[in-house]
Amino acid sequence: MENDPTNEKLRVLKTYFGHSAFRDNQTDIIDAILAHRDCLAVMPTGAGKSICFQLPALLFSGTTLVISPLISLMRDQISALRQSGIQAAFLNSSQSFAEQRDILYQAQNNQYRLLYVAPERLDAAEFLEYAQNADISMVTIDEAHCISQWGQDFRPSYSKIPDFIDKLKARPVVSAFTATASPRVREDILHSLKLNDPKVVVASFDRKNLFFEVKTPKNKTQTLLKILEKHTDEFGIVYCSTRKAVEEVSANLQEHGIKAAPYHAGLPQQERTQNQEDFLFDRINVIVATNAFGMGIDKSNVSYVIHYNMPKDIESYYQEAGRAGRDGSRAECTLLFSGQDIVTNLYLIDLDDNKEPMDETLKAELKAKAKERLRAMEMYCKTNLCLRATLLNYFGEERDKHGDCGECGNCNNESETVDVTILSQKILSCISRTGERVGRGMIIDTLRGSKNEKILNRKFHLLSTYNICTESEREVTEVFNFLIENGYAYLTDDQYPVCKLTSKSAELLKEKQTLTMKRNLVAKRERIEKEASKSERRGRPDTIYYNINDALFNQLKALRREFADRQNVPAFVIFSDASLVDMCRILPTTAAEFLNVSGVGAQKQGLYAEAFTKVINDFVAINKIEKATEAPSNSSPTFVHTAISKERVPISVVADKINVDLMSRHLNPITAKQLNDFLVAEGWLANVTDNRGKNARAVTDLGKENGIEAIEKTADDGRQYQALLYYSKAQMYIVNKFLESGRSFISM
Ligand code: ADP
Ligand code: ZN
Repeated sequence: MENDPTNEKLRVLKTYFGHSAFRDNQTDIIDAILAHRDCLAVMPTGAGKSICFQLPALLFSGTTLVISPLISLMRDQISALRQSGIQAAFLNSSQSFAEQRDILYQAQNNQYRLLYVAPERLDAAEFLEYAQNADISMVTIDEAHCISQWGQDFRPSYSKIPDFIDKLKARPVVSAFTATASPRVREDILHSLKLNDPKVVVASFDRKNLFFEVKTPKNKTQTLLKILEKHTDEFGIVYCSTRKAVEEVSANLQEHGIKAAPYHAGLPQQERTQNQEDFLFDRINVIVATNAFGMGIDKSNVSYVIHYNMPKDIESYYQEAGRAGRDGSRAECTLLFSGQDIVTNLYLIDLDDNKEPMDETLKAELKAKAKERLRAMEMYCKTNLCLRATLLNYFGEERDKHGDCGECGNCNNESETVDVTILSQKILSCISRTGERVGRGMIIDTLRGSKNEKILNRKFHLLSTYNICTESEREVTEVFNFLIENGYAYLTDDQYPVCKLTSKSAELLKEKQTLTMKRNLVAKRERIEKEASKSERRGRPDTIYYNINDALFNQLKALRREFADRQNVPAFVIFSDASLVDMCRILPTTAAEFLNVSGVGAQKQGLYAEAFTKVINDFVAINKIEKATEAPSNSSPTFVHTAISKERVPISVVADKINVDLMSRHLNPITAKQLNDFLVAEGWLANVTDNRGKNARAVTDLGKENGIEAIEKTADDGRQYQALLYYSKAQMYIVNKFLESGRSFISM
């Protein structure tokens, strides 16, 4: 078993990177590399390219040279590798000569599994001498599109790479990676790098949770404000093509009371960093930026990206727009187009701002190509056909432009009729449980499980209607308003209007009728988004979709910040958000359990298990949370840890908790009656006739043994009855049983 290569790969994946399974494309690429085959991988940002070369680098005997143009990011990348216990270093012009010499010396002694260099380094005499004598197993070219004159970021120094490889004493494996490449650029990469019978892997670039739209407004400022109105409390990026526009737009938003800040390369370093951090840490809602913003930024909760100006090409557009919705939730990408944008871009193309010196003929050629890319961008802004298909076709993916993706501004946007009975019942029942004393906002917060102070102070988190809606705030508000418009509830005339029920509410609550509503595209899109992220989950085991506990998540984030500050590295170097989410899900309280967290390998376990499990331990103790016995596996339906309550609760609450999950997966909810029937079948309850001759249930001895208790209660009409309450043991049994078998254990 020791030498089984599959085992070995998985062991290295867990030990160093903390993951327990490969994503589909990763296996293909890694296997090719380990079989010493060249490869080209075109995969979108976030797909997990780094592991594809970093993992083989650990299994090869010599060093892997990584050629990357992003000098500014090298330091962070290396910090991240070292955090994981991997010997790695970088060489670039920001280091002193002494430092560089020291690194080369270490490299000569095969001290590094990975050595990152900028392409300019390849013909430096000292470096070449090192390389020619060293044992270099692989040369990895990151951002490989930089070698193509058709790419949006051509670097002449990339052309030196094939010569450099030829000079090495033995030909290493050559692997190339990029997150953006049109078919033309792909061809260029294969030829220019002289890849040898390469394995080529091209992942889909479709981002199903992104909604694309182009507007050609008369007044961009007003349109922008209107769009932002829809997104209060959310986080977004507004891209402008010039620094001047950034300043103006940002000032304008601030004047309108929006928490916005500017970002461009002309700002003083300190202000720039401050604004970026404010955005990353949710202290402001909008960052108004030039394309300088975004490199290496990994903020997952960006709900919209608005382009105030048309960018220079589709590559840039897709990359920038792609910063929205990284957590898999639905996000909007809107481009505000005007004819002036074309003029501005042509002007920018004619400006000489190339990063590297080059001769006039080459410059002219590059400009011509840039103009051609600009034309494609312009076409995108003017087409009436499917925007998503237009984008994907550009990147070589077949998609019918005349089709209806249902998810872009140009595709069919009719409303649809939907059944909103259940959501309505939840809303009305929450109005009732909160005593018809509070306003709409608080009802929605309660339904959606908000942890805000007002909710906690009033103990609304203990209500059975707490945290039972997985719909977005917008969706719940929409149905709420529908109920008010149709007399199922009303708002008082007070300064702070309070929600009250009406005679119509009772009918609906008694399940005597169904309620349908014409829902607009927004809601339809949200539903599709959920479907999409559902199917994505299957392929992406770590996609965030759990209902995590915000309070704990924030505590863990703060702890991560402490460690990051102390080591002077960015937070993601310590743990990704996905790892923190996983901690909230698994609730590891021992070092051994900590290792189960996605992204935690041996080294990080050693460094951080103690501090993080302490926070989790305290949190679990203070909040009296009982962990589900079995952490559900990633691919099966997942119940949040809050599914089990330490208090005894009625069966309807158990049903509610299960329904939170079912509804999020668009399955029909189960009813308390169905759960009762199941428990009768299990012998925990028995059907009896109550003192009014009605059908009721009583708990059996077996039921009592398993955590069901019968309490005598008096009804409003003075009648005595038995209420059955379920202790956590019984809750856990039901939930686990449900987990095991889906809903099949309930006979429908
Ligand atoms: P890319 O370079 O393609 O933009 P990264 O290599 O930075 O993507 O990976 C994106 C994120 O996905 C990282 O947080 C990484 O830890 C995570 N990741 C990569 N591979 C896996 C895997 N097999 N399982 C779980 N998470 C993974
Ligand atoms: Zn479309």
